[in-house]
Amino acid sequence: MRTETEHTIFLKDYAVSPYRIDRAELDVKIGPVLTKVHAFLTVSPRPETPPGTPLVLDGDELKLDSIAVDGLPLALTAYEAAATTLTLREPPNRSFVLETEVTLEPATNLKLMGFYRSGGTWCTQCEPEGFRRITFYLDRPDILAPFKVTMTAPKALAPVLLANGNRVDAGELEDGQHFAVWEDPFPKPSYLFAMVAGDLGAIHDSFTTMSGRTVELGVYAAHGKQEDCLWAMDSLKRSMAWDERRFGREYDLDIFNIVAVADFNFGAMENKGLNIFNDKLVFVQPDSATDDDYYNVERVIAHEYFHNWTGDRITCRDWFQLCLKEGLTVYRDQEFTSDERSRAVKRISDVKTLRAAQFPEDGGPLAHPARPDSYKEINNFYTATVYEKGAEIVRMLATLLGEAGFRKGMDLYFDRHDGEATTIEAFIKVFEDANGVDLQHFQHWYLQAGTPEVTVSDAYDAASQTYRLTLSQQTAPTPGQPDKRPLPIPVKFDLIGPNGAPMGWSAASGDVRDDVLVLDGASATFEFTGVANRPVPSLFRGFSAPVEIVSNATQADRLFLARHDSDPFNRWQALQDVAMALMLGAVGGTDWAEADIAALAAALEDTLESETLDAAFKALALSLPSESLVARTIGSDVDPARIRAVRLALVAALADRLEPALEAAYRANVPEGPYLPDTHQSGLRALRNAALSLLTVGGRPLGATLARAQYESATNMTDRYAALGAVVAAWTPDAEALLGNFRTMFTADPLVLDKWLALNAMAPDEEVVPRLAAILADPAFPRNNPNRLRALMGNFGLNNPAQFARPDGAGFRFVTAFVADVDTRNPQVAARVLTAFRVWRSFEPVRRGAAEAALTALRDAGGLSRNTADILERTLEG
Ligand SMILES: [Zn+2]
Repeated sequence: MRTETEHTIFLKDYAVSPYRIDRAELDVKIGPVLTKVHAFLTVSPRPETPPGTPLVLDGDELKLDSIAVDGLPLALTAYEAAATTLTLREPPNRSFVLETEVTLEPATNLKLMGFYRSGGTWCTQCEPEGFRRITFYLDRPDILAPFKVTMTAPKALAPVLLANGNRVDAGELEDGQHFAVWEDPFPKPSYLFAMVAGDLGAIHDSFTTMSGRTVELGVYAAHGKQEDCLWAMDSLKRSMAWDERRFGREYDLDIFNIVAVADFNFGAMENKGLNIFNDKLVFVQPDSATDDDYYNVERVIAHEYFHNWTGDRITCRDWFQLCLKEGLTVYRDQEFTSDERSRAVKRISDVKTLRAAQFPEDGGPLAHPARPDSYKEINNFYTATVYEKGAEIVRMLATLLGEAGFRKGMDLYFDRHDGEATTIEAFIKVFEDANGVDLQHFQHWYLQAGTPEVTVSDAYDAASQTYRLTLSQQTAPTPGQPDKRPLPIPVKFDLIGPNGAPMGWSAASGDVRDDVLVLDGASATFEFTGVANRPVPSLFRGFSAPVEIVSNATQADRLFLARHDSDPFNRWQALQDVAMALMLGAVGGTDWAEADIAALAAALEDTLESETLDAAFKALALSLPSESLVARTIGSDVDPARIRAVRLALVAALADRLEPALEAAYRANVPEGPYLPDTHQSGLRALRNAALSLLTVGGRPLGATLARAQYESATNMTDRYAALGAVVAAWTPDAEALLGNFRTMFTADPLVLDKWLALNAMAPDEEVVPRLAAILADPAFPRNNPNRLRALMGNFGLNNPAQFARPDGAGFRFVTAFVADVDTRNPQVAARVLTAFRVWRSFEPVRRGAAEAALTALRDAGGLSRNTADILERTLEG
């Protein structure tokens, strides 16, 4: 393996570029095969730049056709074109126009970075470093310029020509060509550049902003898909209104367009005024998309729209600050969903995602701070830590400052930094200045990797009516950060009395702010006096900090909270904790008692029958901690097959006791009327399908019967897919036949094919590896499409732990062979799939050895991309 230390980039080396780009004009001539990009860049040295300082532009796989300064062609000796740079040896010591011409071949660009073709459509992806694959440029986020783009193309192939900003001209040319001119008045970094050309259909609408301006909205997609875009448009309009209401942010251009493309490495991209989306996050119809798909479209449309202020208007100074725009924007989209739907359900879903994706990253070889201080390949830092932990950090800030204080800080952020490329430090500073507080200590949440573990102990003294709560924190070392400091941790809390009502106290010592305790230091004791009875503490309400909690609570305390806690998150958490404790005991050799199962079943039954809890919450309560979560909680010498067996046994024991209640919930919660993706109907479906899953996976014959019937009679994809999912997870005798039926009947749509691929990948049977290998080997399999590859291989590596980590190593070798193959075409997909190995050191010795052998063989074969080599190197070392 190449150990490319020369590629490591350090935050401490950040320096301002000696040159600015004051204006960028591109003349892009799109042909059937080749595209010519003629760039006119107005470049100026900064006042402090010494004359004769070379100008070094970025480039990647570009072929330079011509180069000129102020219209005069440059002598060969005046510049040097290398593999990744174009250097002007001695540029003029004044403002000048640099002209370059390059030729691109978009159809062969399988990395899907820069300008490429997806189906018949030409499109771009420039974040983080794709613009240098379009033209030579100072391709870094702190170079902001207004752009003007003239696109010319054969009208028959590309009647639609889109770019950032407002369209200022368009017209017909000779020989069937036409053109459009787009101008974006807002200076922007090159990573936000976008351009789309193709034969696309569209839906149009408009939005009137709070100051009364009309914005034309468009969602573009392949012809015939317009109906599938209606929900995306609806979500966009609601997002625009919400950002005005909640953050006072108004949209700024006259046009906002979204384009859906089939081949896309990411979910979506927030290019100024022209968002480009993976089609799976735009297209939804009841018969081909699930309620979860509707939710995800709404969420991601909102996320990318919100970037207009947090990302586009205020951007990142360098890529180390990625969390500045992503963590903040994820927080904003989470709040949007919470306001639009159920706050409690959204919070539980987000915490499940955090624990499934970010905690394992934070506790493994790929751990890194939300604001890293070095990287080899920035593409590998679009991680759950930057996004999801980044959002948690913003959420803690809002908890500590209160809603009004947080809003004051945000208002100052928009005022002070609009039009800038800035840093995490500047972001923290606005909250300090707006609220008159010191957040320097808090800022370390961005700088320190790893998940703090908070240990809780408490004692009640009846004689003095005193309750003492002691919290202490510790963070394990992570790669490159052996020593950890304590962080300020907000703990939302209440004390609950024996009758289930909150308990008062007459005085409290320690940092107690209304309903928030702050643990700031390695350990703290909070003493409450005047407490009439022993309380049960409800801590980390709403999951107020992204930490692991080790508590001295008994199963009885947890079951008490599951019934009485007024905080819905903790109510859910208590049920999870009860189930987790039973599974951990059983994996360790201590079988549960019948009474334990009876108690958990009774708490679940009470939850199901509650008249105050909503259906989606009940559905979440019915889903037990995942096999991966149990594995991570155990931490070492993990045997995934044993965990799977224990979890299935618990599901079976619960299904046995709860069958009547589950059947009643299944039959009682049928939505009425035509399909709607709203909170009410989707909640009912979620509850029915959770009950169905528990019955089916729990081995109840009723479950298999109901699942088969539901699969066959379903009138929407949510119910059909849930039924099939339950059958596959249980691997009932019907499973293979129903999978085959689904393949034949429903997967003409590639996005539905993804669902079939995902279920195949998660199937628990022993034949899963050869079956997936056969799917991949099929000549008809779309081997260059990221969605298909991720549906199959991403799900296998991350969501089928027992088969991925087979003791014979076949699962590991299957994934590394796939990575080696795909890496030659699309390094980003390969590197992402390889991250499934981040847990390899936690396995018992046989599996650990097999994983290491597979990784070592991949390394020794050599020839990997920088993306994949970086992940592999860190995975093996960490
Ligand atoms: Zn984003």
